[in-house]
Amino acid sequence: MLRESALRVTSPRLAVLSAVHENPHADTESIIDVVRGELGAVSAQAVYDVLKALTGAGLVRRIQPQGSVARYETRVGDNHHHVVCRSCGAIADVDCAVGHAPCLTASADHGFSIDEAEVVYWGRCAECHSAQSS
Ligand SMILES: [Zn+2]
Ligand SMILES: [Zn+2]
Repeated sequence: MLRESALRVTSPRLAVLSAVHENPHADTESIIDVVRGELGAVSAQAVYDVLKALTGAGLVRRIQPQGSVARYETRVGDNHHHVVCRSCGAIADVDCAVGHAPCLTASADHGFSIDEAEVVYWGRCAECHSAQSS
């Protein structure tokens, strides 16, 4: 993926990209842990910088549900949505509800050039739901 973008391939970039790929919706702290497990000593700032570069290059998508820290994923470009558990913060992907990114066609665009729509479904994940009802 890196090769197709304008970014130079460096080992921190590769490590961060694969950490995000293998841990969809991971927060920065867990990405730092995974990258350190692979490369040894890496500063948190270096990981922040790489995440910023990857996000800027469109290789990584940054999401931040209300009340959550920023989370990252490599599933980019399809404008998919997320369902978030109110209890434990678990996040899962939800495909666009009606075909291909229909939410980008706003009923009124107010003259904006729209390139992203963000829909967050809120509820309780299966685990929290059954913990509560039992
Ligand atoms: Zn939950
Ligand atoms: Zn996602």
